[in-house]
Amino acid sequence: MNAQKLSKRLESVAKFVPQDAIIADIGSDHAYLPCYLVHNNIAKSAIAGEVVKGPYESACQEVQKEQLTTKITVRLADGLAAIEPEDGVTAITIAGMGGPLIATILEKHPEVLKGVERLILQPNIHAKVIREWALQNSWKIIDEVILSEDDKIYEILVLEPGDMHLSEIEQLLGPVLQQQHSEVFQSKWTREIDQWGNVREALQKAEQTPEIVAKSAELAHLIATVGEVLKR
Ligand code: SAM
Repeated sequence: MNAQKLSKRLESVAKFVPQDAIIADIGSDHAYLPCYLVHNNIAKSAIAGEVVKGPYESACQEVQKEQLTTKITVRLADGLAAIEPEDGVTAITIAGMGGPLIATILEKHPEVLKGVERLILQPNIHAKVIREWALQNSWKIIDEVILSEDDKIYEILVLEPGDMHLSEIEQLLGPVLQQQHSEVFQSKWTREIDQWGNVREALQKAEQTPEIVAKSAELAHLIATVGEVLKR
């Protein structure tokens, strides 16, 4: 992977960046995504935000190597603190982290999100936490992707300002992904059901405290509801 040729995962993220966006890529280790977006005339300019010094320095080097220092600003900052009001950021990408970390980053500086037209979020795990954040903060899901690369499964959530309604199961599985019912989706949730089944078996052998009984019932509910969706 480099700034010209992204991984399948980051290329899928890039596809959702609106034409002529001013983009902020948060957690921009190597800055490959912003460099690609500017090189391909998708983004007009970009901010690459990184909280850790090593990846921040890699991002600075990459932007210099690609001769994009007039279009891409690299900032060492925690999450959305990398974005300043004068930047006029219209879209934000946050990729390659867990859903809870992405949600924490979004929660920490809500004022920065005013005026942002699109969020493209790629959680490696626990996408549900982002859907819950979106529901509580008036962002609606306009698209979702599930893909597999190097034996790992990734989800991408595309959000725009607005309200939506999601059932409990849609929060877990994703409203668009559930509807599409792709092979990757089926494989992900079949694997999850297997894992929940293994945990449940182990719990049944343990002492039946109220917590263990409650956890076991929760897993049984998940196995039944997600199993029902997979049968469709
Ligand atoms: N976004 C790239 C991608 O998808 O390939 C890099 C993913 S890398 C696994 C996650 C990066 O996010 C790391 O470089 C990490 O330092 C950075 N990161 C984690 N928490 C952050 C935060 N609160 N603010 C900015 N960057 C953060």
